[in-house]
Amino acid sequence: MTEIRTVGVCGAGLMGNGIAQTCASAGYDVYLAEVADAPLQHGMSAIEASLEKFVERGRIDRAERDRVLARVRPTTRLDDLRECDLAIEAIVENAEAKAALFAQLDALLAPHAILCTNTSSLCVIELAAKTARPNRVAGLHFFNPVPIMKLLEIVKTIATSQEIVDALFAFSRKLGKEPILAQDTPGFVVNRLLVPYLLSAIRCYEQGLASKEDIDKGMKLGCGYPMGPFELLDFVGLDTTYYIAEIMFDEFKDPTMAPPPLLKRLVLAGRYGRKSGKGFYEYA
Ligand code: NAD
Repeated sequence: MTEIRTVGVCGAGLMGNGIAQTCASAGYDVYLAEVADAPLQHGMSAIEASLEKFVERGRIDRAERDRVLARVRPTTRLDDLRECDLAIEAIVENAEAKAALFAQLDALLAPHAILCTNTSSLCVIELAAKTARPNRVAGLHFFNPVPIMKLLEIVKTIATSQEIVDALFAFSRKLGKEPILAQDTPGFVVNRLLVPYLLSAIRCYEQGLASKEDIDKGMKLGCGYPMGPFELLDFVGLDTTYYIAEIMFDEFKDPTMAPPPLLKRLVLAGRYGRKSGKGFYEYA
Protein backbone atom coordinates (compact mmCIF):
# COMPACT_ATOMS: atom_id res chain seq x y z
CA MET A 1 0.00 0.00 0.00
CA THR A 2 1.22 3.56 -0.74
CA GLU A 3 2.93 4.84 2.40
CA ILE A 4 2.09 8.41 3.36
CA ARG A 5 4.72 10.31 5.38
CA THR A 6 4.68 13.84 4.01
CA VAL A 7 1.51 15.72 3.12
CA GLY A 8 1.21 18.86 1.00
CA VAL A 9 -1.81 21.09 1.51
CA CYS A 10 -2.61 23.80 -1.06
CA GLY A 11 -4.64 26.73 0.22
CA ALA A 12 -4.37 27.98 3.81
CA GLY A 13 -7.95 29.27 4.05
CA LEU A 14 -10.71 28.00 6.31
CA MET A 15 -10.27 24.36 5.24
CA GLY A 16 -6.60 24.23 4.26
CA ASN A 17 -5.25 25.46 7.58
CA GLY A 18 -7.51 22.99 9.43
CA ILE A 19 -6.36 20.12 7.20
CA ALA A 20 -2.70 21.05 7.72
CA GLN A 21 -3.18 21.23 11.50
CA THR A 22 -5.00 17.89 11.60
CA CYS A 23 -2.30 16.13 9.54
CA ALA A 24 0.49 17.63 11.67
CA SER A 25 -1.35 16.62 14.86
CA ALA A 26 -1.41 13.03 13.57
CA GLY A 27 2.39 13.13 13.16
CA TYR A 28 2.70 13.87 9.43
CA ASP A 29 5.20 16.36 8.07
CA VAL A 30 3.16 19.00 6.28
CA TYR A 31 3.86 21.65 3.67
CA LEU A 32 1.18 24.35 3.59
CA ALA A 33 1.22 26.25 0.28
CA GLU A 34 -0.42 29.57 -0.57
CA VAL A 35 -0.30 32.06 -3.42
CA ALA A 36 0.93 34.94 -1.23
CA ASP A 37 2.37 35.72 2.21
CA ALA A 38 -0.74 37.39 3.64
CA PRO A 39 -3.14 34.40 3.34
CA LEU A 40 -0.31 32.09 4.42
CA GLN A 41 0.27 34.12 7.58
CA HIS A 42 -3.46 34.23 8.18
CA GLY A 43 -3.62 30.43 7.89
CA MET A 44 -0.67 29.91 10.26
CA SER A 45 -2.23 32.29 12.80
CA ALA A 46 -5.47 30.29 12.61
CA ILE A 47 -3.53 27.08 13.33
CA GLU A 48 -1.79 28.70 16.31
CA ALA A 49 -5.10 29.99 17.67
CA SER A 50 -6.76 26.60 17.25
CA LEU A 51 -3.88 24.77 18.97
CA GLU A 52 -3.99 27.33 21.79
CA LYS A 53 -7.64 26.40 22.38
CA PHE A 54 -6.66 22.72 22.58
CA VAL A 55 -4.03 23.65 25.19
CA GLU A 56 -6.55 25.73 27.18
CA ARG A 57 -8.97 22.80 27.21
CA GLY A 58 -6.22 20.47 28.41
CA ARG A 59 -6.38 18.29 25.30
CA ILE A 60 -2.70 18.83 24.49
CA ASP A 61 0.20 20.38 26.42
CA ARG A 62 2.44 23.22 25.25
CA ALA A 63 5.23 20.87 24.22
CA GLU A 64 2.83 19.00 21.92
CA ARG A 65 1.53 22.29 20.50
CA ASP A 66 5.11 23.25 19.65
CA ARG A 67 5.79 19.87 18.06
CA VAL A 68 2.65 20.13 15.91
CA LEU A 69 3.50 23.69 14.82
CA ALA A 70 7.06 22.66 13.95
CA ARG A 71 5.70 19.97 11.61
CA VAL A 72 3.84 22.56 9.47
CA ARG A 73 6.11 24.25 6.95
CA PRO A 74 4.45 27.28 5.35
CA THR A 75 5.50 28.14 1.81
CA THR A 76 4.56 30.24 -1.21
CA ARG A 77 6.64 27.99 -3.50
CA LEU A 78 4.64 25.07 -4.84
CA ASP A 79 7.96 23.38 -5.69
CA ASP A 80 8.48 22.70 -1.97
CA LEU A 81 5.74 20.06 -2.21
CA ARG A 82 7.92 17.97 -4.53
CA GLU A 83 8.59 15.22 -1.96
CA CYS A 84 5.02 14.83 -0.72
CA ASP A 85 3.40 11.40 -0.82
CA LEU A 86 -0.04 12.98 -0.71
CA ALA A 87 -1.16 16.43 -1.90
CA ILE A 88 -4.53 17.81 -0.85
CA GLU A 89 -5.83 20.88 -2.61
CA ALA A 90 -8.17 23.14 -0.65
CA ILE A 91 -8.22 26.26 -2.83
CA VAL A 92 -11.19 28.25 -4.09
CA GLU A 93 -14.17 26.21 -5.39
CA ASN A 94 -13.45 26.95 -9.04
CA ALA A 95 -12.93 24.27 -11.69
CA GLU A 96 -10.34 26.21 -13.77
CA ALA A 97 -8.25 27.17 -10.72
CA LYS A 98 -8.27 23.62 -9.40
CA ALA A 99 -7.48 22.10 -12.82
CA ALA A 100 -4.51 24.46 -13.25
CA LEU A 101 -3.18 23.53 -9.81
CA PHE A 102 -3.70 19.80 -10.45
CA ALA A 103 -1.67 20.04 -13.67
CA GLN A 104 1.17 21.74 -11.76
CA LEU A 105 1.07 19.19 -8.92
CA ASP A 106 0.94 16.27 -11.34
CA ALA A 107 4.09 17.51 -13.07
CA LEU A 108 5.84 18.10 -9.75
CA LEU A 109 5.04 15.07 -7.61
CA ALA A 110 6.69 11.64 -7.70
CA PRO A 111 4.77 8.94 -9.63
CA HIS A 112 3.72 7.16 -6.40
CA ALA A 113 2.12 10.30 -4.90
CA ILE A 114 -1.64 10.58 -4.38
CA LEU A 115 -3.50 13.71 -5.48
CA CYS A 116 -6.67 14.66 -3.61
CA THR A 117 -9.17 17.46 -3.82
CA ASN A 118 -11.23 18.82 -0.95
CA THR A 119 -13.84 20.07 -3.42
CA SER A 120 -17.39 20.10 -2.10
CA SER A 121 -19.15 19.82 -5.43
CA LEU A 122 -16.87 19.70 -8.47
CA CYS A 123 -16.49 16.61 -10.59
CA VAL A 124 -13.40 14.78 -9.30
CA ILE A 125 -12.90 12.73 -12.48
CA GLU A 126 -12.73 15.96 -14.49
CA LEU A 127 -9.73 17.03 -12.38
CA ALA A 128 -8.26 13.51 -12.45
CA ALA A 129 -8.48 13.40 -16.25
CA LYS A 130 -6.19 16.45 -16.42
CA THR A 131 -3.40 14.40 -14.83
CA ALA A 132 -1.22 11.48 -15.96
CA ARG A 133 -2.27 9.53 -12.83
CA PRO A 134 -6.10 9.42 -12.79
CA ASN A 135 -6.01 6.12 -10.85
CA ARG A 136 -4.18 7.95 -8.00
CA VAL A 137 -6.65 10.85 -7.77
CA ALA A 138 -9.56 10.94 -5.32
CA GLY A 139 -11.75 13.32 -3.35
CA LEU A 140 -10.94 13.81 0.31
CA HIS A 141 -13.75 15.93 1.66
CA PHE A 142 -13.17 17.31 5.15
CA PHE A 143 -15.70 19.13 7.31
CA ASN A 144 -15.42 22.49 9.00
CA PRO A 145 -13.86 23.00 11.56
CA VAL A 146 -11.48 20.27 10.40
CA PRO A 147 -9.66 19.65 13.72
CA ILE A 148 -13.02 18.98 15.41
CA MET A 149 -15.33 17.37 12.87
CA LYS A 150 -15.11 13.58 12.79
CA LEU A 151 -16.32 12.83 9.27
CA LEU A 152 -14.22 12.44 6.15
CA GLU A 153 -15.85 11.61 2.81
CA ILE A 154 -13.58 9.63 0.51
CA VAL A 155 -14.65 10.07 -3.08
CA LYS A 156 -13.84 7.29 -5.50
CA THR A 157 -14.07 8.22 -9.15
CA ILE A 158 -14.58 5.85 -12.07
CA ALA A 159 -10.77 5.74 -12.34
CA THR A 160 -9.57 5.68 -8.69
CA SER A 161 -7.83 2.41 -7.88
CA GLN A 162 -8.88 0.34 -4.88
CA GLU A 163 -5.30 0.55 -3.57
CA ILE A 164 -5.65 4.34 -3.30
CA VAL A 165 -9.07 4.11 -1.65
CA ASP A 166 -7.60 1.69 0.93
CA ALA A 167 -4.62 4.00 1.53
CA LEU A 168 -6.98 6.95 2.08
CA PHE A 169 -9.18 4.99 4.48
CA ALA A 170 -6.06 4.10 6.50
CA PHE A 171 -4.87 7.73 6.32
CA SER A 172 -8.21 9.12 7.55
CA ARG A 173 -8.24 6.72 10.51
CA LYS A 174 -4.72 7.84 11.40
CA LEU A 175 -6.09 11.40 11.45
CA GLY A 176 -8.70 10.22 13.96
CA LYS A 177 -11.52 10.65 11.43
CA GLU A 178 -14.38 8.35 10.49
CA PRO A 179 -14.32 7.81 6.73
CA ILE A 180 -17.31 7.07 4.51
CA LEU A 181 -17.14 6.17 0.84
CA ALA A 182 -18.97 8.50 -1.57
CA GLN A 183 -19.60 8.47 -5.28
CA ASP A 184 -18.23 11.21 -7.53
CA THR A 185 -21.48 13.20 -7.80
CA PRO A 186 -21.79 16.87 -6.78
CA GLY A 187 -22.20 17.35 -3.04
CA PHE A 188 -21.26 13.72 -2.32
CA VAL A 189 -23.36 12.48 0.63
CA VAL A 190 -23.56 15.29 3.19
CA ASN A 191 -23.85 18.37 0.95
CA ARG A 192 -26.33 16.60 -1.32
CA LEU A 193 -28.68 16.67 1.67
CA LEU A 194 -27.42 19.77 3.50
CA VAL A 195 -27.18 22.34 0.67
CA PRO A 196 -30.86 22.11 -0.44
CA TYR A 197 -31.82 22.53 3.24
CA LEU A 198 -29.67 25.68 3.62
CA LEU A 199 -30.96 27.14 0.34
CA SER A 200 -34.52 26.36 1.39
CA ALA A 201 -33.96 28.33 4.63
CA ILE A 202 -32.86 31.36 2.55
CA ARG A 203 -35.93 31.03 0.32
CA CYS A 204 -38.20 30.87 3.40
CA TYR A 205 -36.56 34.03 4.73
CA GLU A 206 -36.88 35.76 1.33
CA GLN A 207 -40.57 34.93 1.35
CA GLY A 208 -41.04 36.43 4.82
CA LEU A 209 -41.78 33.16 6.62
CA ALA A 210 -40.01 34.38 9.75
CA SER A 211 -36.96 36.39 10.81
CA LYS A 212 -33.59 34.73 10.28
CA GLU A 213 -33.15 34.69 14.06
CA ASP A 214 -36.41 32.80 14.51
CA ILE A 215 -35.64 30.36 11.69
CA ASP A 216 -32.28 29.65 13.39
CA LYS A 217 -33.96 29.29 16.77
CA GLY A 218 -36.63 27.02 15.30
CA MET A 219 -34.14 24.59 13.81
CA LYS A 220 -31.93 24.56 16.91
CA LEU A 221 -34.65 24.11 19.48
CA GLY A 222 -37.07 22.15 17.31
CA CYS A 223 -34.60 19.77 15.69
CA GLY A 224 -31.67 19.81 18.10
CA TYR A 225 -29.29 21.15 15.46
CA PRO A 226 -26.18 22.79 16.99
CA MET A 227 -26.49 25.77 14.60
CA GLY A 228 -29.40 27.32 12.75
CA PRO A 229 -29.18 27.47 8.93
CA PHE A 230 -28.10 31.14 8.80
CA GLU A 231 -25.44 30.64 11.48
CA LEU A 232 -24.20 27.63 9.53
CA LEU A 233 -24.24 29.51 6.20
CA ASP A 234 -22.11 32.28 7.72
CA PHE A 235 -19.79 29.64 9.17
CA VAL A 236 -19.35 27.71 5.91
CA GLY A 237 -18.98 30.91 3.85
CA LEU A 238 -21.70 32.36 1.61
CA ASP A 239 -19.33 32.49 -1.38
CA THR A 240 -18.45 28.81 -0.99
CA THR A 241 -22.12 27.86 -0.56
CA TYR A 242 -23.03 29.88 -3.64
CA TYR A 243 -20.38 28.14 -5.79
CA ILE A 244 -21.47 24.72 -4.51
CA ALA A 245 -25.14 25.45 -5.22
CA GLU A 246 -24.35 26.63 -8.76
CA ILE A 247 -22.37 23.49 -9.49
CA MET A 248 -25.03 21.19 -8.01
CA PHE A 249 -27.80 22.96 -9.92
CA ASP A 250 -25.80 22.82 -13.13
CA GLU A 251 -25.41 19.05 -12.77
CA PHE A 252 -28.86 18.01 -11.49
CA LYS A 253 -31.11 20.85 -12.78
CA ASP A 254 -33.04 20.42 -9.55
CA PRO A 255 -34.65 23.74 -8.49
CA THR A 256 -34.04 22.98 -4.80
CA MET A 257 -30.31 23.31 -5.58
CA ALA A 258 -30.53 26.68 -7.39
CA PRO A 259 -28.89 29.55 -5.47
CA PRO A 260 -31.58 31.98 -4.24
CA PRO A 261 -31.30 35.64 -5.41
CA LEU A 262 -30.51 36.88 -1.89
CA LEU A 263 -27.50 34.56 -1.60
CA LYS A 264 -26.13 35.84 -4.90
CA ARG A 265 -26.58 39.45 -3.82
CA LEU A 266 -24.89 38.96 -0.46
CA VAL A 267 -21.93 37.37 -2.25
CA LEU A 268 -21.80 40.20 -4.80
CA ALA A 269 -21.74 42.64 -1.87
CA GLY A 270 -18.71 40.83 -0.43
CA ARG A 271 -20.68 39.55 2.54
CA TYR A 272 -19.16 36.09 2.79
CA GLY A 273 -20.08 35.37 6.41
CA ARG A 274 -17.75 35.06 9.39
CA LYS A 275 -14.60 35.20 7.28
CA SER A 276 -15.42 38.70 5.96
CA GLY A 277 -17.02 39.93 9.19
CA LYS A 278 -20.51 40.15 7.68
CA GLY A 279 -22.94 37.68 6.17
CA PHE A 280 -26.48 37.10 7.36
CA TYR A 281 -25.15 38.32 10.72
CA GLU A 282 -22.39 40.75 11.70
CA TYR A 283 -19.23 39.67 13.54
CA ALA A 284 -16.87 41.73 15.67
P1 NAD B 1 -11.17 29.91 1.51
O1 NAD B 1 -11.66 30.98 0.60
O2 NAD B 1 -11.26 30.13 3.00
O3 NAD B 1 -9.63 29.56 1.18
C1 NAD B 1 -9.13 29.32 -0.10
C2 NAD B 1 -7.65 29.68 -0.09
O4 NAD B 1 -7.01 29.16 -1.26
C3 NAD B 1 -7.38 31.19 -0.09
O5 NAD B 1 -6.59 31.52 1.05
C4 NAD B 1 -6.61 31.44 -1.39
O6 NAD B 1 -5.60 32.43 -1.26
C5 NAD B 1 -6.00 30.07 -1.63
N1 NAD B 1 -5.60 29.79 -3.01
C6 NAD B 1 -6.23 30.13 -4.15
N2 NAD B 1 -5.55 29.65 -5.22
C7 NAD B 1 -4.47 28.98 -4.72
C8 NAD B 1 -3.39 28.25 -5.31
N3 NAD B 1 -3.30 28.10 -6.65
N4 NAD B 1 -2.46 27.67 -4.48
C9 NAD B 1 -2.54 27.81 -3.14
N5 NAD B 1 -3.56 28.50 -2.54
C10 NAD B 1 -4.50 29.07 -3.31
O7 NAD B 1 -11.98 28.60 1.08
P2 NAD B 1 -12.35 27.30 1.97
O8 NAD B 1 -13.65 27.53 2.65
O9 NAD B 1 -11.15 26.90 2.75
O10 NAD B 1 -12.64 26.23 0.81
C11 NAD B 1 -11.58 25.60 0.13
C12 NAD B 1 -12.10 24.34 -0.55
O11 NAD B 1 -12.65 23.47 0.44
C13 NAD B 1 -13.21 24.59 -1.58
O12 NAD B 1 -13.06 23.67 -2.63
C14 NAD B 1 -14.48 24.28 -0.77
O13 NAD B 1 -15.56 23.88 -1.59
C15 NAD B 1 -14.00 23.14 0.11
N6 NAD B 1 -14.75 22.92 1.35
C16 NAD B 1 -15.18 24.00 2.08
C17 NAD B 1 -15.87 23.76 3.27
C18 NAD B 1 -16.35 24.94 4.14
O14 NAD B 1 -17.09 24.69 5.10
N7 NAD B 1 -15.94 26.16 3.86
C19 NAD B 1 -16.11 22.45 3.70
C20 NAD B 1 -15.62 21.39 2.93
C21 NAD B 1 -14.95 21.63 1.76
